Amino acid sequence: GPELTLPVPAIATRKRRIGILTSGGDSQGMNAAVRAVVRMAHVKGLDPWAIYDGYQGLVDNVMRPLAWADVQGLLRLGGTVIGTARCLAFRERAGRLTAAQHLVENGIDALVVIGGDGSLTGADRLRAEWGSLLDELLATNRIDQVQRATYAHLNIVGLVGSIDNDMSSTDMTIGCVSALHRICEAVDAIEATALSHGRAFVVEVMGRHCGWLALTAALASAADWLFVPERPPLVDNWEEEMCAHLKKLKDRGQKKILVIVSEGAIDKNLKPIKSEYVRDLLAAKLKFDARVTTLGHVQRGGSPCFYDRYLGTVQGVRAVDEILRATPETPSPMIGISNNKITVEPLVQAVTLTHAVSTAIDAKDFARAMELRDPEFATSFDTFVAMNNLPVSVTGGQGLGVARVPRTLAASPTQNPRDVPTPAVPESGTGLRIGILHIGAPAGGSNAATRAAALLALNRGHTPLAIYNGVEGLVRGDWKPLTRRIVQNWTARGGSELGTNREQPGAQLGLCAYQLQRAGIQALLFVGGFEAFTAMHALATARKEYPALCIPMAHIPATISNNVPGTEHSLGSDTALNAIVDACDKIKQSASASRKRVFVMEVHGGNVGYLATLGGLAGGSTAVYIPEEGVGLHRVQRDVDHLIRRYSAEGAATKEGRILLRNEAVSSTYTTDVLCSILRAEARGLFDARSAVLGHLQQGGAPSPLDRVRATRLAAMCVDWIENQAAQAMAEADGKPALVYTMSKQSACVIGIQGATTVFTPVEDLMIDDTDLKKRRAQTAWWMEWRGLIPLLSGYTIDPDAM
Ligand code: ATP
Repeated sequence: GPELTLPVPAIATRKRRIGILTSGGDSQGMNAAVRAVVRMAHVKGLDPWAIYDGYQGLVDNVMRPLAWADVQGLLRLGGTVIGTARCLAFRERAGRLTAAQHLVENGIDALVVIGGDGSLTGADRLRAEWGSLLDELLATNRIDQVQRATYAHLNIVGLVGSIDNDMSSTDMTIGCVSALHRICEAVDAIEATALSHGRAFVVEVMGRHCGWLALTAALASAADWLFVPERPPLVDNWEEEMCAHLKKLKDRGQKKILVIVSEGAIDKNLKPIKSEYVRDLLAAKLKFDARVTTLGHVQRGGSPCFYDRYLGTVQGVRAVDEILRATPETPSPMIGISNNKITVEPLVQAVTLTHAVSTAIDAKDFARAMELRDPEFATSFDTFVAMNNLPVSVTGGQGLGVARVPRTLAASPTQNPRDVPTPAVPESGTGLRIGILHIGAPAGGSNAATRAAALLALNRGHTPLAIYNGVEGLVRGDWKPLTRRIVQNWTARGGSELGTNREQPGAQLGLCAYQLQRAGIQALLFVGGFEAFTAMHALATARKEYPALCIPMAHIPATISNNVPGTEHSLGSDTALNAIVDACDKIKQSASASRKRVFVMEVHGGNVGYLATLGGLAGGSTAVYIPEEGVGLHRVQRDVDHLIRRYSAEGAATKEGRILLRNEAVSSTYTTDVLCSILRAEARGLFDARSAVLGHLQQGGAPSPLDRVRATRLAAMCVDWIENQAAQAMAEADGKPALVYTMSKQSACVIGIQGATTVFTPVEDLMIDDTDLKKRRAQTAWWMEWRGLIPLLSGYTIDPDAM
C-alpha cells in the first residue's frame, strides 16, 4: 500500500515508551510488579509510563512518565498505587478506539497489563483489534499516516494480578498468597474464641469461580469441611452426610468446628451453597453454636507477603524482557509461574483455558474443571479429604494415593465413587507403628506436618508415635502414641511440640536400634533440617548391622535455611522470608524517619544465601552478602560507592533508608559490625549506618500459610509412601506379614518439592550427588538465578554481569 513508501521514524532513535496499568480487582504485589517493570524499563533504556486507573486511564488519557525514584518504597504497599477501575467504556469498541488514540498520541507502543482474567481478556481484544482501530482512527483523521505506520504494532504483555488464583496457565497469581495470609490470620484469631466457647465457625472466603483460596485456607487452618465450586458435593443429601461427619467430631470431644465456604460454592445442580445456609444446618441439626464470618475485602488488605513481592518482582522483570523480545508476529504473552519457573504462554490461550473452567462448571463437568486447574489443586483436595477422613462418596476426593491413580480415573459425578481405587492399606490389625521425630533448629510447619502425619496414620489404622527431643529422646526411649486430641490444634503453632535439637546418632546407633525395636517402630518420619538429613543417613547406612533399622524412613525437610538437598523449599523457609521482609519494612521505616540511614541487617541461613537473596529481593535491599560469593574489599568498596552516589544524587530532598542484608556466615572478617563501621566512616556524614541482627525472630511465631499447606501435603504423602514401602517390604518378607524389613536404598528417602511435583529421593543418592557435607548445604541452588536482579533493581550503574 501507499503507506509503505512513507518515511517511518526509526523506533531505535527514540526511547520506546512502555505503558503500565493495573486493572480489575486490586491485589497485593501489584506494586512490586509495577516497581520491577519501571526499574527494569529504565535499566534497559525504555521509557516507562503509568496509566492510571486501569483502562479508564487509557480512555480518559490520564498517564505520565515514571522516574526511577517514583517507585521507591512500593514493595511494602498493598493495593495498587497507580489505581485500578472497572472500566465499562473499554468493553465497547468505541472505548477501545479512544484508548488506541491516546496510546498513539502519547507515543506508547508497548503495554504491560496487570490484572485478572477480565483485564487480560480486554488486553487481548485490544491487541486483536489494533490494526482495525488504527485504520478507523486514520480514516476519521484522529491520527495521521505517520502515526499509523509508526504504531502499527502494539506489544502487550499480561501479568496476572488476582487474589483468586483463578487464571489458567499459571500456578499462582500475584496476590493470592497474601490473601491466604489474611484468611489464616483471621481464622487463627477466631480459633481462640471458637475453642473457648465450643463454637462452629463457617468462614466465607473469596473466589467466585475458583476454590483455591478456600482449599488452601482449609489445609492451612485445619478446617473440618470445605465447599469449592470445582468439586461440589456429589450427592443430593450432602447436608445429612456433612452433619453426621461433624457430629462425630463433636462427640469425640472436638470443641472447635470450622467449615470453609468459597464465595462461589455450589451443589451438584449448580445451586449456590451459602454460608448462612451451612450455619443454619449446623445450628438446627447439630445444636451447634454456629457463626458466620464473611471475610470480604479484608482479604485484599494489608501488606503483601514475601511470595507476592517475589512473584511480582521476577514477573515484572520478565515482562520487560518479553517486550524487548516481541516481534510483530509473536502472540501477546502472559507471564506465569509453573513448576517454580517463570513461564511465558500466549495470552489468548490462557484466557481461553480460564474461561473453560467456568464453562465446565456450568456444564456440570466437574472432573474437567478440576483437571483444568494446576496439578497441585487436585492433590491438595485429596489431601484434605484424606486427612479429615471425609466421606469420598460426598466430597468426590480420592483420599490420596493419587500418585498411583491415573488422572483419568478422577471421580466424576457420573462415576460411582466407590469404584475409585484406594491405596493399599494394611488390613486392620496390621497397622504400622510410625515413629515421628524432630531434629535440628525449630522451623515453621514442623507441628503442622506432625499433626497431618499423625491424623492420616490414625485414619488408616496405624499408630503414630511421638519421639520426644530427637535422637536424644529416641536413645532414652522417650516416646508416646499420638492421639487426635493431642495433635488437633497444632497446625498454626510455631516451634516444635515434640522438642528438637541437633543431636546425631553418632556412637549411639546401637541404642537407637535397640529402642526402635523395643517400641516396635516399623517406620520413621523425620522432620527437620540438615541434621535430620545426616541423622537419617546414618541410621539408613547402619542397616547392615542393625535389623531394627531396616524400616522405611522418610525425611520432610524443615529448616529456615533451606539447605537440605532434594527439595526446592524446606518447611519454615517461607515463614522466615516473611519475617525478614516484615523486618525490612520496619527497619526501612525507621531508617527513613530519622535521617538518611543505612542498615546492615544480619540474617540466618548458615552457609546458604537463600534467605538473604530472596529476602533481599522481596524486601528491597540494596545489596546482599552471601556465602556462595563471599565478601571482600572490592565488594564493600563498590557498595560504598553506590550508596554515596545515590545519596548524593538524591540530595537533601529524600531521607530514604536503605538495607544491606548480610548472611550470618558470609565472612568472619567482614562482620555485621565491621561492615557497619566501614560504611559510617566512608559516608563522611552523607548517611548514617546502623546494624540489626534478626536472629531467632526469623523462626517467626505462627508458621506462614504456605509452610502449613506444604507441611500438610508432604506429611500426608509421606504416610502414603511409608505404607507403600512397608507393603513392598512385607511382600518381600512373605510369610511374616507383621515384619517390615527393608535394606533397599529406595526405602530411606527425602521428600522434596520440585516445581509442582513432589518427589522422594533416596538419601544415599542425595548424599553422593547433591550434598556439600563440609558446608552443610545442597550443591544446587535454583534461587541463584535471581541474585543478579538485586543490584539491577537498586540502580547499580556498573555492568551487572561483572559482579
Ligand atoms: P478480578 O480477578 O479481580 O475480577 P479482572 O481483571 O477479572 O480482575 P474484571 O472486572 O473482569 O476484573 O475486568 C477488569 C476490566 O477489564 C473491566 O472493567 C474492563 O475494563 C476490562 N475488560 C474485562 N473484560 C473485557 C472484555 N471482554 N473486553 C474488553 N474489556 C474487558
